[in-house]
Amino acid sequence: MKTLAVVNSKGGVGKTTTAVNLSARFASGDARVLIIDLDSQSSASFSFGIGRQDLTPSIGNVFFDQVPIQETVRRTSVNGLDLITGSMELANADVIMSNVKGRENQLRYAVESLLDEYTYIVFDCPPSLSILTVNALVTADAFIVPVCPQYLALEGVVTLLSAVEKTKEGIGKIAKFLGILLTMVDRRSNATEELIHMIRNHYKNTVFNTEIGISSALAEAPGFGQSIYDYAPESNGSKAYTDLTIEILDRMLKKEEVN
Ligand code: ATP
Ligand code: MG
Repeated sequence: MKTLAVVNSKGGVGKTTTAVNLSARFASGDARVLIIDLDSQSSASFSFGIGRQDLTPSIGNVFFDQVPIQETVRRTSVNGLDLITGSMELANADVIMSNVKGRENQLRYAVESLLDEYTYIVFDCPPSLSILTVNALVTADAFIVPVCPQYLALEGVVTLLSAVEKTKEGIGKIAKFLGILLTMVDRRSNATEELIHMIRNHYKNTVFNTEIGISSALAEAPGFGQSIYDYAPESNGSKAYTDLTIEILDRMLKKEEVN
């Protein structure tokens, strides 16, 4: 297992923060890592300090203009971590791709030639179950779902996972569900405690032990074009994403052994 999608149709739950910092952590050591920004908002690309005027060539140009994917790969300031940007064009992907035969396989075909070059590839998905998220689910070996424990969070996850199941029925093989990640957790709040209790009770050990707490450093780092490991290496956010990385790699390995 080497490809991982970060998925939730709900917006603002920490998908991009998770994709960016996981990728940075994966890249420590000898691993070669690629993060692909599938969101028209380009938040992951901005998080690495890319300017709005520099977003192209992006993964959008690969899908819609037949630009070879190798030509869209760029280095980031993190050693061993490459990036393919997202751009505005992606907002119309559902319409543009609606008549394309095998539209759910476009990312898989594109990424195939890069698989040997990277130890891990991470997909940051848009906040919808759009064709781009479906492409990520078809391409990735596994996916994780960041969840912010707020009102109706549990209902949101139930709906999302059943929608993913439906997608699977229509398509066949898709990414394996690796787990739920609790993000932006504020343990001082009783309401949060209760929600976390409900989510952990319902999803048992599919919920990662690691929780990402509310952290100003995690919120600030993208503004400096840095991952948490460069911006605040000693912060709680940095420690949490390191713990999460260990848990994720462990689960990826175990899923591999089962199959
Ligand atoms: P979207 O659905 O719009 O793509 P997202 O799910 O990718 O959003 P993020 O962009 O990662 O979510 O996070 C939403 C906002 O919350 C951002 O401003 C981000 O900096 C902030 N944020 C993310 N995680 C944390 C955290 N643990 N503590 C504090 N702020 C956070
Ligand atoms: Mg995002």
